[in-house]
Amino acid sequence: MVTATEFDQLLDLLRDFIRREVMPAEAGIDESDEIPARLIAQAKEMGLYGYALPSEYGGLGLSVEQQVRVTIELGYTSPAFRSLFGTNNGIAGQVLVLAGTDQQRKQWLPRLASGEVVASFALTEPDAGSDPSRLTTSATPEDGGWIIDGLKRYITNAPAADVFMVFARTDPQAPPGKGIGVFVVPAGASGVAVAAKDHKMGQAGAWTADVAFTSVRVPADALVGEAAQAGYATAMRSLAHGRLIIAALCVGVAARLVDESVSYAKERSQGGHVIGEYQLVQAMLADSQTEYLAARALVLDAAVSRSTAAPGISAASPSRGCTATYGCSGSTKAPARSSNSSSPGRCSGSGLGSAD
Ligand SMILES: Cc1cc2nc3c(=O)[nH]c(=O)nc-3n(C[C@H](O)[C@H](O)[C@H](O)COP(=O)(O)OP(=O)(O)OC[C@H]3O[C@@H](n4cnc5c(N)ncnc54)[C@H](O)[C@@H]3O)c2cc1C
Repeated sequence: MVTATEFDQLLDLLRDFIRREVMPAEAGIDESDEIPARLIAQAKEMGLYGYALPSEYGGLGLSVEQQVRVTIELGYTSPAFRSLFGTNNGIAGQVLVLAGTDQQRKQWLPRLASGEVVASFALTEPDAGSDPSRLTTSATPEDGGWIIDGLKRYITNAPAADVFMVFARTDPQAPPGKGIGVFVVPAGASGVAVAAKDHKMGQAGAWTADVAFTSVRVPADALVGEAAQAGYATAMRSLAHGRLIIAALCVGVAARLVDESVSYAKERSQGGHVIGEYQLVQAMLADSQTEYLAARALVLDAAVSRSTAAPGISAASPSRGCTATYGCSGSTKAPARSSNSSSPGRCSGSGLGSAD
């Protein structure tokens, strides 16, 4: 549990770190498709790999509202930076937080929180994307364990992962969404193969890849929560948390877009005037600021609801839709710089993506 004063100090530290260390590295990240090792080390030192994980397992134990406020700050720079530790805190780590046994939590969460271990969430398949309930990866029981077979697609952080949370069908006869378990599978297990990283349209520095599981043998205690039928519900609960976090990330992106637009409008001259003096430009900037503030208010409201209400997706979904429009589509109405390849607004893909 972090006190309000400690949290304010953490936000100040993070804001300063992003502006001093990460923003100057954005162009390099875009060109090299890689986060510099020194930023990875600093992120570990600051506790960023475990800010959403419980303090009893070495995380910072932030509340959902605090996680959202941290994520808004992280959205101010390259989204790839947050993606580094997004799966540990989010979709993968939350599987263990929500459904893991005590033993599984003790074994993995402290190492996720320190960044010693990178975890990935492996749900999507070539023919199971928006509707993952029809996934076909199988987990077949054998004496003392399971054999996993299948192909997963677009798995964030797979090239760096030490462990995968793999969703697999344990009952081939069950209807979609039923008969699915989730398994903790070490990346080094025999039969696990990570393909080359995908070439994406945006989010350079954030990696996704296919992961093949071919006759991968795992012990019985690899089944998360010991319930072979409950994996799909765990996936949906983890994704509900992830949607809120991605919405918050987009709010940070929108804040950056507005700030960049305002400074450009102040420096660019046409017709003998800086363009910010023109009423039409001022109106576009005002609209962008209004949309940003509306999205921020909606996400913070959803975070408070999620902290206090019964678990569900209703709070997160509208905020994700709204901020996906304002933040990630780059839809700011304000005047854009003609070329800015490292623009943090260039998000690609779906809300699940890198939630990571
Ligand atoms: C950057 C990135 C990172 C990702 N990271 C992960 C990860 O870590 N782990 C993981 O498991 N997955 C991950 N994913 C996969 C992601 O969850 C899927 O891409 C997403 O679920 C959409 O699936 P799809 O790409 O197969 O699109 P499809 O499901 O094929 O959808 C294609 C189009 O059809 C539309 N559509 C589909 N169904 C409907 C419907 N019922 N009504 C109306 N329109 C519909 C979609 O909106 C979309 O426009 C990632 C994806 C990206 C891009």
